[in-house]
Amino acid sequence: MLDGTKAELTERTALRINPAKTCQPIGAMYAALGIHGCMPHSHGSQGCCAYHRSHLTRHYKEPVMATTSSFTEGSAVFGGLANLTTALQNIFSIYNPDVVAIHTTCLSEVIGDDIPTIIKKARDEGKVPEGKVVIHTNTPSFVGSHVTGFSNMVTSTIKYLAEKTGKTTDRLNVIPGYLDPSDILEIKRLLGILGVSSILLPDTSGVLDTGLDGNYTMFPKGGTTVEDIKSMGDSFATIACGHFASHAAATQLENQCNVPAGFLELPIGLTGTDRFINAVRQYATIDIPEAIEEERARLIDLMSDLHQYLHGKTVAIAGDPDHVIAMTQFLVDLDMKPKYIVTGTPGQFFERRIAEILKDSGSNATVKQFGDLFEMHQWIKNDPVDLIIGNTYNKHIARVENIPLIRFGFPILDRGTHRLFPTVGYTGAKRLIDEMVNALLDKKDRECDEQWFELIQ
Ligand code: SF4
Repeated sequence: MLDGTKAELTERTALRINPAKTCQPIGAMYAALGIHGCMPHSHGSQGCCAYHRSHLTRHYKEPVMATTSSFTEGSAVFGGLANLTTALQNIFSIYNPDVVAIHTTCLSEVIGDDIPTIIKKARDEGKVPEGKVVIHTNTPSFVGSHVTGFSNMVTSTIKYLAEKTGKTTDRLNVIPGYLDPSDILEIKRLLGILGVSSILLPDTSGVLDTGLDGNYTMFPKGGTTVEDIKSMGDSFATIACGHFASHAAATQLENQCNVPAGFLELPIGLTGTDRFINAVRQYATIDIPEAIEEERARLIDLMSDLHQYLHGKTVAIAGDPDHVIAMTQFLVDLDMKPKYIVTGTPGQFFERRIAEILKDSGSNATVKQFGDLFEMHQWIKNDPVDLIIGNTYNKHIARVENIPLIRFGFPILDRGTHRLFPTVGYTGAKRLIDEMVNALLDKKDRECDEQWFELIQ
C-alpha cells in the first residue's frame, strides 16, 4: 500500500494533513435530524449540502434528507436573502416539514448573511405557514469541527424553543451528545429500567435507523417533537453528556429556564456509565434497580476474565473529543495504556481532561487537540502500538503498520453494522471489549510461532 508518511517529525502550525475531524454543518445537519419532522437546510451552495448528506448517508446507511439555498455566483456577490426566502417557500409547499433547521456554510458566513432577519422577512411575507417553526444556527466551517456544529445546532434549538411555564414536570432532560441512534436507544433503555421519564435532544433513533417495510417516509416517526423541546424548560433537571457536544446546550437551558444541569462525559465504558447512572439516581432520587446492578456485574466479570489479554496493551486513539475522552477513561479502567491521543477538534479542555484521567494510570501519553492523523501515524512509525481505536480514516495507518483497528466514533464508512450496536452503557462496553480482545487474538493467531498457536485461549 502507498505509504507517504515519513517517520521524521517536523513542527507544523498552519497545515493539517488527514485531519481527525470534518466540517461544522455535518454536525448541525445530524443534530437537526434528531428533531421530529425537521428538514435540515444548508444555507450555501449545493456542493456543501451534497457532501454533508452523502457523508451522513455513508455512516448511517440511510437516506439523509436536506435542502439547500443553492448559491450561485450572484448569491456570492449579493448575499443569500433571495435564495433563502425562496427556499423556505418551496420547502414548506413541497415537503411540508414541522421544522426547518437552517445552518450556514463557509460561504454564507463570509458573506455575512443575517439569518434571523431573513427568517423574519420570510414570515412577514407569508412564506412560512402559520404554526411552522424555523430555527437557525451559525456553522462557519473555517473554525471548530462537526462537533462544534452539532453543539451549535442543539444550543440554538433550545434557544429558539425551550420555554418555562413555571410548572415543573417529572421529566429529566438528557442531551446525549454526538451519538449513533443505537446509543440513543440504549440510553433510553437504561432510563426505562431506571423508571425515569425523559426527553432526549437530539434523538436520531427512529430517524436514521429505520427498518425496511416497503414504504418511504420523508419524516420518520422518531426525533424529539417541538412540543417536547418546548417543555424541556419545565423539566426538573438536565444531564448533558460530553463537554464539546452537549455542555453548551445544557448551560443555555440552565440560563434560559433555570433547569439545573449535570455535566458529564459520554456514558462509554465502566466509569462513564457508572457516572451517568449515578447522576440519574441523584437527580431523580431513585434507587438503582437490581437489573442495572446485574448488567454492571456482568461487565465487571468480563473485564476480570479478559484482563490477561488487555492489560498493558498500548493504544492510539483518534476522533471526536468527547468520544476520545470517554474511551481513554475506559482504557484506563481496563488497565490498558493509551499512548497517542488525538482529536481534530480544537479546545484546550481536551488536553487538560486527558491529563487528569491519565494522572494515576502510569500512562505517559502524547496528547494533542487540533491534531491530525498524519502526525499520529508518524508517532506510531517511531514507536508502534498494539491497537488503534478510531474512525475509518485510521485504516490506512492500520494497514501500513499492521496494527488492528477498532472502528469507533464518526464516521465509519467501510462497515455496516456499527449504527445498530451501541457503544454506550454496560452493554456497549461489553461490545467494545469483545472487539478489542478478538482483534488482538486474531492478530496473534495469524502471526505467532506454531508453539504459541493455541486452540484454547
Ligand atoms: S468546509 Fe465549508 S465550503 Fe467546504 S463543505 Fe464544509 S461548509 Fe462547505
